Amino acid sequence: MADLYRARLSGSQRAVKFVGVESLEVGDAPVPTIEDARDAIVRVRAAGICGSDLHLYFGREAFDAGTTMGHEIVGEVVAVGADAPQDLLGATVMCPFTTSCGDASCAACARGLSARCPQGRLLGYRLGGVGLHGGQAEFARVPLARGSLVRLPAGLRPEEGLLLGDIFSTGLFCAANAGLASPEGQGVLATAAQQLGAALGVAAEGAAPAAAAAAPPPVFVVVGCGPVGICAIFAALELLRVRAGVAEGDAAAPAPRARIFAVDNVASRLEGARRAGAEPLDLGAGAAAVRAAVLEASGAAGGAEAVLECVGANSALELAFACLRPGGVLSSIGVNTSPSFPFTPDDAYNKNVTFRSGRCPARSIMPLASVILRRLRARGVDVAAEVVTHRIGIEDAVDAYRNFASRAPGWGKVVIEFGAN
Ligand SMILES: [Zn+2]
Ligand SMILES: [Zn+2]
Repeated sequence: MADLYRARLSGSQRAVKFVGVESLEVGDAPVPTIEDARDAIVRVRAAGICGSDLHLYFGREAFDAGTTMGHEIVGEVVAVGADAPQDLLGATVMCPFTTSCGDASCAACARGLSARCPQGRLLGYRLGGVGLHGGQAEFARVPLARGSLVRLPAGLRPEEGLLLGDIFSTGLFCAANAGLASPEGQGVLATAAQQLGAALGVAAEGAAPAAAAAAPPPVFVVVGCGPVGICAIFAALELLRVRAGVAEGDAAAPAPRARIFAVDNVASRLEGARRAGAEPLDLGAGAAAVRAAVLEASGAAGGAEAVLECVGANSALELAFACLRPGGVLSSIGVNTSPSFPFTPDDAYNKNVTFRSGRCPARSIMPLASVILRRLRARGVDVAAEVVTHRIGIEDAVDAYRNFASRAPGWGKVVIEFGAN
């Protein structure tokens, strides 16, 4: 493979390039080279088209024409710089959508917030000539290879590695931020003061929901059933099983005691959510009807424990807020380019809301996400098979973007596959 790369260096590669708003082309681009001693060059085996690519596609964020699109790749390392791990050469690697140094001295990387590594960069984003070309091309340059690249775990397919680099890790991050990685009765279900009181032996006045067994199961809502939303549903259900003590591969374990509603207005996406284990709610019936269904299901709780907002638009954020119970958690993962929130500080105060958002630290969360994905596989759930709807060659990428961007029925995750040569 390294020989193949060297042979290609004098030529060009095919790449999906940004021309202008709603205009892309598949054209020739230079084959990337090692520019920094910490770089690696990855021969891309598969590249994803992501919902957040559409912000660039629609011109919601400033972006250089000529940039190669894409930040989701899996492939083989064909070249490494002098200060990159030499044993990565030839390895099949997963790549988080933002690079990060991984140094112990880096506060962001050390605390598991790789997405905020000061040296890190988003793949496939350039402005004013600064930034990185993306991975929707035959080869990609990945800076900070030591901190960024992860060998594909044994037993996982390259396509699963692709999902771990972004959308599955992002869905898991959203579910964890919603409190689903916390022990039951804590996290979203109790305040920090209640937990501290329990630790200090203070009488737990109103702490645990004492009548929990008789109360309706806690309600969670996923807003947006695109590929990230579907991943969030799978991750949420598996986190509920983990916290209920269900062992890996235990297919006989009862379903988690919770209801997860999934909201969208595209029938094929709602069907995907239902297959993933959620109860679909059609937004076509109106936001008020969705909210009413959530409130009814939650009974005396008065709304959802947490809402996982996987769209990145104020309409979705507004609906998410409306569905929350007092003291609930709004876990927002979508990139939202609106200039302000659809709810006021007073609204947030009056509902005692916890709001969590931010770019998924994919590199930091990938080891956990790999295990959650493996647990799902062990119960016969193939997340990649559920979310990837189209596998295409690069020459068909412009049409695929058009279909994905228009939310055409049946179009979920698109993966651009590259041949063996
Ligand atoms: Zn992505
Ligand atoms: Zn760092």
